[in-house]
Amino acid sequence: MNEIMSANILDGKALAERMRLAMREQTHMLFEKHGRAPGLAVILVGDDPASHVYVKNKKIGCEKAGIASFSYELDANTTQQHLLGLIGELNADPKVDGILIQLPVPAHINSKVILQAIDPSKDVDGFHPYNIGCLTVRQPTLRSCTPYGCMKLLEETGEDLHGKEAVIVGASNIVGRPMAMELLLAGATVTICHRFTQNLQAHIERADIVVAAAGKQGLVQGEWIKKGAIVIDVGIHRLEDGSLTGDVDFEAASKRAAWITPVPGGVGPMTITMLLANTIQAFRAHVGDDE
Ligand code: NAD
Repeated sequence: MNEIMSANILDGKALAERMRLAMREQTHMLFEKHGRAPGLAVILVGDDPASHVYVKNKKIGCEKAGIASFSYELDANTTQQHLLGLIGELNADPKVDGILIQLPVPAHINSKVILQAIDPSKDVDGFHPYNIGCLTVRQPTLRSCTPYGCMKLLEETGEDLHGKEAVIVGASNIVGRPMAMELLLAGATVTICHRFTQNLQAHIERADIVVAAAGKQGLVQGEWIKKGAIVIDVGIHRLEDGSLTGDVDFEAASKRAAWITPVPGGVGPMTITMLLANTIQAFRAHVGDDE
């Protein structure tokens, strides 16, 4: 008999909601104890409409979690020098625990230089080479938000990740690579696939855990998914009708997977949540509160 499975949904929206409620209590307690709220500086350069929406959502997230946000909306012609000056000021500002620069920045600004100018103890996006390096040598500090959020979703399955075959599709600095380090730290056997990988299907077919982060709509076919696998879809694509979809063929994959994230409502809400968690973590480190 051909048994058709129906995957459990890994509900990132619900998990994010629970975590943010808990954060609100934490920030309240921290305010009572230390006389200030954790603070996040958000810098936006230029007028990219999507970036404006992301920044707005981050500010709303801060408000709900009891985090003070400081907004810097800079003109598209802002020089790299000016931006570096602002980062220097924020690095020195004791009210600011986290600094976020909304990417992409305009082409005349070198994002590598900008990201590396942030004090690593305020790098709440977890993109600074220092923080990525710490994760690589098994001493995680501020962790990249999207992979960190994926790990929280994997925790929700209750599965022991030790020895599991994990296949990551995508090797970017902000998702694929730190995701590989997270899964390695959790004891999985990790394969990273990228644009030069031959026979992606063969890799996916033997995976107990698939993390799809290639930015290619429907790249991961449902029939490739091993029965009982866990599928985390990081991809986000907006369709013509305005709806969102991911890198995985959700309908077919959910007939084979044991657990799967939807798009929207999976990884997306967790990314902002981990940014808020990192800001609270950075605050604790700055005020010397290690409870
Ligand atoms: P990127 O373009 O920087 O990297 C894509 C990676 O995928 C590259 O390493 C590339 O080699 C690999 N790739 C491309 N085509 C491939 C193929 N056919 N087979 C195997 N690998 C292939 O993208 P990114 O910034 O890492 O983002 C990836 C996706 O995740 C995008 O859809 C992005 O919108 C989404 N994203 C979502 C969140 C979230 O919060 N949900 C956060 C960040 C990124």
